[in-house]
This record gives sequence, C-alpha cells and structure tokens, in this order.
Amino acid sequence: MTEQKNRGMNVLQWILELLLLSSVLYFILGQAFLPGEKFAQGPQSTTFHENWERVFPDGSRQAIMVPGQCDVPEGEVLVIEKQLSQNQENTWFCIRSSQQDIRVYVDDELRQEYTTKDTRLAGKNSVSMYVFFEVTEEDAAKTLRMEIVSNSPYSGYVNEIFVGEQMEIWRSLFGRYFLGTVIALFMLLLSLAVVVYSCIIQHIYKKKMEIVFLGVGLLIASIWLIAESRLRQLVFPNNSVASDVGFLMVILMPYPFLAYVNVIQKRRYQKVYMAMSAISIANFVFATIFHFGNIMDFSQTMGVSHGIIILMIGIFTVTVMNDVCKGDVKDYPEVAVGIGGVMLAGIQEIYLVYDKASLYNGVALCLGMVFLLFTAGIKTGRDMLKIEKEKHLAIVANESKSKFLANMSHEIRTPINTIIGMNEMILRENKDEATLGYARNINNAGRMLIELINDILDVSKLEVGKLEITENPYRLTTMLNDAMLSASVRAHNKNLDIRLEQDKSLPAVVKGDEIRIKQILNNLLSNAVKYTKQGSITLAAKGAKTEMGFVLMLSVKDTGIGIKQEDIAGLFDSFRRMDLNRNRNVEGTGLGLSITKELVDQMHGRIEVESEYGKGSCFTVWLPQEIIEEGAEEAEEQKKEENTACETVEEKVFCAPDASILVVDDKEINLIVIEALLKRTGVKMDFAGGGKECLEKSKHKKYDLILMDHMMPEPDGVQTLHMIKEDAENKNQETPVIVLTANAISGVAEEYLKEGFTDYLSKPVEYQRLEAMLEKYLQPNCQNATALAAATFKESTP
Ligand code: ADP
Repeated sequence: MTEQKNRGMNVLQWILELLLLSSVLYFILGQAFLPGEKFAQGPQSTTFHENWERVFPDGSRQAIMVPGQCDVPEGEVLVIEKQLSQNQENTWFCIRSSQQDIRVYVDDELRQEYTTKDTRLAGKNSVSMYVFFEVTEEDAAKTLRMEIVSNSPYSGYVNEIFVGEQMEIWRSLFGRYFLGTVIALFMLLLSLAVVVYSCIIQHIYKKKMEIVFLGVGLLIASIWLIAESRLRQLVFPNNSVASDVGFLMVILMPYPFLAYVNVIQKRRYQKVYMAMSAISIANFVFATIFHFGNIMDFSQTMGVSHGIIILMIGIFTVTVMNDVCKGDVKDYPEVAVGIGGVMLAGIQEIYLVYDKASLYNGVALCLGMVFLLFTAGIKTGRDMLKIEKEKHLAIVANESKSKFLANMSHEIRTPINTIIGMNEMILRENKDEATLGYARNINNAGRMLIELINDILDVSKLEVGKLEITENPYRLTTMLNDAMLSASVRAHNKNLDIRLEQDKSLPAVVKGDEIRIKQILNNLLSNAVKYTKQGSITLAAKGAKTEMGFVLMLSVKDTGIGIKQEDIAGLFDSFRRMDLNRNRNVEGTGLGLSITKELVDQMHGRIEVESEYGKGSCFTVWLPQEIIEEGAEEAEEQKKEENTACETVEEKVFCAPDASILVVDDKEINLIVIEALLKRTGVKMDFAGGGKECLEKSKHKKYDLILMDHMMPEPDGVQTLHMIKEDAENKNQETPVIVLTANAISGVAEEYLKEGFTDYLSKPVEYQRLEAMLEKYLQPNCQNATALAAATFKESTP
C-alpha cells in the first residue's frame, strides 16, 4: 500500500520536474529565437565622431579619429575642436572621461568642467565617468572645444562622443553594458552562496572546505566588476572610492586562487605560493601607499598587479604540469582542467584591460572562474562522498571498539569478583597482621578496579548512545539509604563523619531512574570521601515544586581539599584530573564526573559546583522527577532505616545453620565465591552448574531459598524458574528464588518480579547485600546470629 503511494508521489514529482524543465527551455529558446522586445525601445543616441581636429599650442591643426589616441605626454592638455552645425538643435552631448579632467567650451564660454579633485581622497587623476553637457539652438555654428588632460596611460585618448537626449544616451549605454552588470551581480550572488554553503558544510563536517577560497575569488572578481562597471555612476555616490576598490580587488585577486590550488595540491608547492602571497601583500601595501601618497595612482601601478597575476598563471602551469608528469594530478583531475580554463580567461582579460575600446571587461574572466568553480564543485562532491564513507567507517569502528570495551569489562568482572571474594575470605579467616595488610590492599585495589570497569562500561555505552534512562517509581528514602550504604563504610574507614539530611516534606515515592541517580550519588559521595582528609560529608536531599513539576535537589558537601576556581570549568571533561600535585596518591581516572554530568544531562537535570580551595566543595544536582506518592512521615521512618542499614553493614552478621539453599550458576568460580562468602552464615549449600541440574536437584529436595544466575546457557535463569513453577512435582514451587544479574538498569527489578522471582541481586555480588537478602527471606527459625561471627566480621573489615 505504502509502495503504491510512493510510486504515485514519484510520478507526480517527475511531471513537475518535466514542467520545470520545459519552462526553463521556453525561457532560453524564446530569448534566442523570438523577435526582440528591448526595454530600450525608443530613440537611441547617435555618435558625434566626424570632423574633429586637434589644436596644437602653436595654433596648428590636425584632423583626428574619434574615438582614438593622440600622441600626448602624460599631464599635457589635449585640445580638440569641432564646428557645431548651422541648424543645431537643443540637445545633450556625452563623452566618457577615462581618468581624465575634461573642460568643455562653446566658443570661449565654459559649458562643463569635470574633475574629481575636490571629492577624491587621493590620486592625481579624476575617476572615469560619463560627462554630460548641453548645447542649444543658439550655439549653432559655434566652435565646440574640449580640453582633456590626464596623468595616466589614458593621456591623449578621446573616447566616444554621444549625442541625443540624456535618456536616449543612457538607453544606448544600458544596451551595451547591461549584460556585463547582470553577470557581475549574478557572480556576486553565486560567490556569496558558495561562501555560505562552504561555511555550513564546514560546520557540519568539521572539515575545512577549500572551495570557500573559490567563493572568495569569485566575490573579489564580482566586486571588481561592479566597482568598475560603466554604469556605476548611476548607483555609487562616490565613484573615486568605487574605482579604488576595483583596483584593490585586482591586487588581491591572486590570494584565493593561491590558497585553493595550494590545498588541492596538498601543499607540495607551499613555499612558492607563500612567496607569491608575500609579493601580493607587498604589492597591496606599496600600491596603496603610492596612491594615497599621491606618488603614483593605482592605474599606474596596475602593471605590477597584472605582472603578478601572469606570474601566478605561469607558476600554476608549471606546478600542474609537474603534477601531471608525476601522476599527482590524479587528486584533482577535474580542477586541473578548471585551472587551465581560468588561466586562459585571465590572460584574455589582461589583454582586454589594455584594449581601451573594449566593452566586455571581466566577462571572460568570470566565465573562466565559473568554469573553475564548476570543476571544483565536482571535486568537492567527490570529497564529500569520501568523507561520508570515512565517517561511516569511523562510526562502525567506534561502535565495535565500544562493544569490545563493553564485552571486555563484562568479562573482566567475573575474575575480579573472584579475587575480591577470595580475598574477603583471607580477611575473615587470617590472623596474621602482615597478611591482613596485604589482603586489605588487594581489597582496595579490587574495588577500585571494579569501579574503573563500571566507568569504562558506562563511557562506552554513552559513546554509542546505549545508556538509556529508564523511569520507574521508587522510594526516595530507600534510594538515599542505599547510596549512603557504601559511602558510609569508606567514610568510617577514614574517620570521616557522614550524614544524610533528608527534608521532611519530600514525597515518599517518585518516578525516575533510581539506578542512575544512585550512580550519580555514588560518584559524588565517593569523590567527597576520596578528596576529604578530615571533617564531614553531608548528603542533603530537598525538593521543590516548580511550574515544570517536582525537582529533586541532591547536594553532597565535604570539608575536603576543595577545587581551584580555574579548574572548575574543566571539571566535567573526560579523563581530566585536577590538582595532580596534591592528588597524586588519590586513585582515580577522571571519568566519574564526566559520566555524572552526562547522566544528569540525559535526565534533563543540572549540576553545579561550589568550592573553596582548601576548605571544601559542594556538588548540587537538580533532577526533575514525577511525584507518585506524597508522604511526609516517610522521612521519620527513614531515620530508623538508615540506622539499621548501617548496623547491618557494620556489626550484625547473619547466621542460619538450619537453612539450606541452592546456588545455581554456570561458572564454577562464582559458585566457589558464594560458598566462601556464605560460609560464616552456616547455611547449608547445594550447587547446580546450570538450569538442568537445578531442576533435578530442586525436584527432590525442598530448599529454603534458591540463588539463581540469569545469564546461563539454555535454559537460562528465567526459563529455569518457569519450569520449576510449572512442574507440579517440584518441591520448590513456593521457595523464594533470587535472581543474580549483571543487568543493573532501572526497572529491571519489576521485570524480574513479573517473571516470578522473589527478588534480585546485582552482580558483582557484595557480601553485605547477599547476607541482607538471606536474612530477609529465610525463615526466622533458621536464623541464629552469633557474637563470634560478628566479631570476625568486625576484625576483617578493612
Ligand atoms: P577521579 O576522581 O576519578 O579523578 P572525577 O571525574 O570523579 O575523577 O573527578 C575529576 C577531578 O575533580 C578529580 O581528579 C579531582 O581533582 C576533582 N574533584 C572531584 N570531586 C572533588 C571533591 N569533592 N573535592 C575536591 N576535588 C574534587
């Protein structure tokens, strides 16, 4: 159905494209073959070129060609005269000044004086411009005289002279120069489009787009064309400035092309291009100084700029030929053709500049540049496809790296678990002080390693965007107590005070990602303990109701070493550790806070740090959560819970010699670790190396509890549980089954409960939690706490 709809849409699109194409064709063919309907219809101006005479200072005369060149040294006045007709009508004349001052007399009466002496900033010559003057019937048969003077190569040149009404003259000029001006404007738009497009692409792909240089080249050319346009006096108030800018553009013209060719030739000829760029800069500086210092006008130093452009064309020819010979041209074959095109256009252009009667200055160069741009566009397209491909490959490579890291971290956890578990036994059972010291160090290092691996796992998940936030209802008090649990042990080991200040008005149950919030608190609390030598640590929990909903505010305050103000900005960067001189002995990777920040961001929260160096720090996190159940009295209850939680960890040892449990795990070493960890509880343990063995054992013997690993080869933990429940003959249909899982994400508890498990424990298994779990689910009659066991525990706690 959708395929059919798509096909329908495609057909409609084809029709529209065809219609567009035919409209464009109509435009082109219509302009080419249908009769002209020029807007410049109506009377056009005529020329006034016959019978002009040059008058020499001694009074002698010589017939001259108009337009044409007379032999007049720079700075000397050329005088030309012509008799007006007997039946002269009221009309206008127009002559172009090419950097010339012009005075017009009818008989001896001054009719027009053109000079920009008073308005130009600098330069010895007036700016090129069309000069208009009026003649009336009364001037019939009088002598029209013009005095023309210039300090430029245009000295002695007489331009065309038009006659007619002003509008008629402009109409003729429009007819001539309109195309050139439109091309200049088109180039301006095109160049801006190329520059903007390159900047956007550069921003997206984070790669410098060399085509931007051609955009700039085109921009320079179009500004030059507009500034030099014959129609400019209709637009610009100050033509001298426009003319100066035109010259400056010619001086700057080589820069973008040098830069572009340098990049596409992979900087093989950089030294030559650097020298050329330096010459262009020197040319700019000297030409400007000479012009504004009234030493030499831009028009007089223009030869140098043309020389530089010709030199550049020569260098391009040599370098491209060299690349052709060496085979390096394969990187830019299409552009090499484009450069050839623009070089030919450049030579033609310079020739035109010296042809004083030329009408189409710049047009050839523009076409050459557009051609180069076109070829460069093909190359850029090719490059972008390559980048896209490389990007794809990099993403794939990064994903497989992250997957590898995730798998490795997962695999490494099992042996470390064993090391920590077995070491725990040494701590419990050994009495030798030296050995106990070694074992404590192993314990610290092992825990550090587990933290590190968890961090790496998180970073790799964050990198591939797999760290998801799963929101579920949870009890705030329980979450806070859990977070305090592990921090308390470490804080007490360092003789630090640690307390929880929970606001009484906090709701009882909220919805959010409990596991990730706990992880944030663990990171902040463990940093607080790590970077505090004496004093106290306070975890404060408050809430605020805003228009966005409920916001949970958690702050961890310590009286530790503090953070320097200048370090605060980089605190959340990965692998950044501050103040290394002081913290050399503190273990860490610099990942904790960057993960914390990432998690807070993913939960649409905010984290802030306040710190005074040497006095302490306070990290505050704001997290939006949804209130599920209000409950002020919960805060009171929590006090009790908090105390018992600590007691559980520190003093009470659970003992149940009458209980019998079944431990199921496909990894033998895990079975050994659990056996060792639970040895002091006295429980009787049976072991099963997989789901099948578990089914057999549980069929015939009634257990008080089953600890079941989730990730096992078929049947896995969940399947095994279902089979137990479904088998009427199985004696353990009612037995509590606790699942062991490495799957520590929020909401997972509910999933397991739905499957029929009684509870769940996350791996690596911490013995405190394991014992707490046993205490919770074993029958009271099989519990029997002994003081001896408690004493052993206390001794062995590092
Ligand atoms: P780690 O602690 O593993 O080095 P983190 O990302 O958790 O990495 O912290 C980065 C740095 O921030 C630490 O190296 C430490 O210099 C500084 N830091 C973090 N928390 C505190 C704190 N509570 N007091 C002082 N400095 C801290």
